[in-house]
Amino acid sequence: MTTEFSDLHLHPQLLQAVTELGYETPTPIQESIIPLLLGGHDVIGQAQTGTGKTAAFALPILHHIALGTGNVQALVVAPTRELAMQVSKAMYEYGRLREVRVLAIYGGQPYSRQINRLRKGVDIVVGTPGRLLDLMERKALDLGDVKYVVLDEADEMLSMGFIEDIETILESTPEKRQ
Ligand code: AMP
Repeated sequence: MTTEFSDLHLHPQLLQAVTELGYETPTPIQESIIPLLLGGHDVIGQAQTGTGKTAAFALPILHHIALGTGNVQALVVAPTRELAMQVSKAMYEYGRLREVRVLAIYGGQPYSRQINRLRKGVDIVVGTPGRLLDLMERKALDLGDVKYVVLDEADEMLSMGFIEDIETILESTPEKRQ
């Protein structure tokens, strides 16, 4: 029996968003991971590029997120600027109907724009390790209310030597995060 998106019990506005994007059925990684993440479990997912990993972690976060708190509740760490931009765009599109505020944070862009957006309130931050640390040191990024952390392409980040940066970032998030 094929699993349908509607079988996953996602928020109706997320269901509508993926339907509008033309997604008909969940991919295998979405089908296996979304129920686990919705159930509050920690998950390591491994699948080829282009198999729908982004939605697999993004939809459960967008489902659970409490809007309008003004604090960053979810953090996605990605190895490259390109991936950070791609993931933030996808999260924005999936969360558009829920009016989720997503910000991409990466080097090579002026600090002022990112800091201003953070001041105005952001629900989800997607960033590369170096710039995330920079903004934490400048006290512009507070991870004290983060409930969900994703290490996207974790293997890639380890081989790029980001382990210490990631440990520092994780230590700044609450212990009880998913
Ligand atoms: P990703 O592996 O997350 O980079 O996704 C690869 C591509 O597949 C992206 O263009 C997504 O928009 C698309 N995609 C993700 N999930 C689905 C789905 N369930 N059905 C159709 N397309 C999808």
